[in-house]
Amino acid sequence: MQYTTQMDAARKGIHTEALKIVAEKENYDIDKLCTLVAEGKVIIPCNKNHKGIVPNGIGSMLKTKINVNLGVSRDCKDLDVEMQKVHSAVEMGAEAIMDLSSYGDTQKFRRKLCSECPAMIGTVPIYDAVVYYHKALKEITSQEWLDIVKMHAEDGVDFMTIHCGINKETAAKFKRNKRLTNIVSRGGSIIFAWMEMTGEENPFYEHFDEILEICQKYDVTLSLGDACRPGCLADATDASQIEELITLGELTKRAWEKDVQVMIEGPGHMPMDQIAANMKIQETICHGAPFYVLGPLVTDVAPGYDHITAAIGGAIAAMNGASFLCYVTPAEHLRLPNLDDVKEGIIASRIAAHAADIAKGVPGAKDWDYAMSAARKKLDWEQMFDVAIDPEKARRYRAEAAPEKEDTCSMCGNFCAVKNMNRILDGEIVSIYDE
Ligand code: SF4
Repeated sequence: MQYTTQMDAARKGIHTEALKIVAEKENYDIDKLCTLVAEGKVIIPCNKNHKGIVPNGIGSMLKTKINVNLGVSRDCKDLDVEMQKVHSAVEMGAEAIMDLSSYGDTQKFRRKLCSECPAMIGTVPIYDAVVYYHKALKEITSQEWLDIVKMHAEDGVDFMTIHCGINKETAAKFKRNKRLTNIVSRGGSIIFAWMEMTGEENPFYEHFDEILEICQKYDVTLSLGDACRPGCLADATDASQIEELITLGELTKRAWEKDVQVMIEGPGHMPMDQIAANMKIQETICHGAPFYVLGPLVTDVAPGYDHITAAIGGAIAAMNGASFLCYVTPAEHLRLPNLDDVKEGIIASRIAAHAADIAKGVPGAKDWDYAMSAARKKLDWEQMFDVAIDPEKARRYRAEAAPEKEDTCSMCGNFCAVKNMNRILDGEIVSIYDE
């Protein structure tokens, strides 16, 4: 092999198979794409051991991608049910699946995922370490944390969330600057607790070079975790969040020196008026590395509807530079999502991503909307269902209240503006009242 990672290949001017696939999918000039991968502005997460992957590129100038979180947990331990969710998520358009398994034989599910799923696979090794070692958190050693990273890399994981930004300095800043909701990142809270109990430095920060060696060997993309992402509007853009981001910017440069691909994880909960500024700050501090946002949720008051609060924030974030959206389901803050929640979350994220792609001028994005509008003008219901983002729901809704006249819908019936305009412009008489 003449290269280690996709970034290394791009820096050597090598057009890898993955680069060619991404350029073709995105309808993007391959030489320009190669330069962006070399610069770290586009990433192509694809572990050498994930043989069945269909590669995708992530970068603000490309189509916005979405991630779906799944995984086995104490309350949902059926591998087959979880795999069903994976397959339907991919069918519904998710480009990435994050396996957040936290119960039982997590390696079995992870390996199954890497051997069967063509989407990018992400994990959070911190969660797995807690399950894998079967011992109290403070007993886990620095080496054991790193061993889990290596195990995930060997299993074929394409990107890993590594909470390396919350070092002793960030933790001290967090303690000095009180927050309303402290640390809401699961991985962040675990590593913060470990640091508090052991008095040691964050092992992912302290041994970052060893993590880079693992990532370089397997071509694992680092998703630099945001332990200090705001968990409520009151904590948005505070000292802890920015302090951690500065550390992530420094670590990004160190990763790039070893040709390791990087993306940065972001907020969180955030008022709408702060989102664009946050995207700009991230882009500047993290040198243009792709931004992966977890929401942002634009209000705290909508449990049961957080797929909507996240879609609003995700659309604004993506329009302003974020390139990867983590889905949020209606079950967020309440319980584990079921299949319906997963579907609602994916559709909401896809709407946000597509709305942003239109605004960003991503080639071909508007064509989809044109196709729907053309079908609407013709009142061609079958064609509308075909191009709808959720054909099943569109078809079901129409069938639930069938119109008297087949060429309208029950919303306006005889008053159908589309039908009446088509007729009058065709020279027909439009009466409405007695039709
Ligand atoms: S009936 Fe009203 S809502 Fe339905 S297609 Fe016609 S104009 Fe649109």
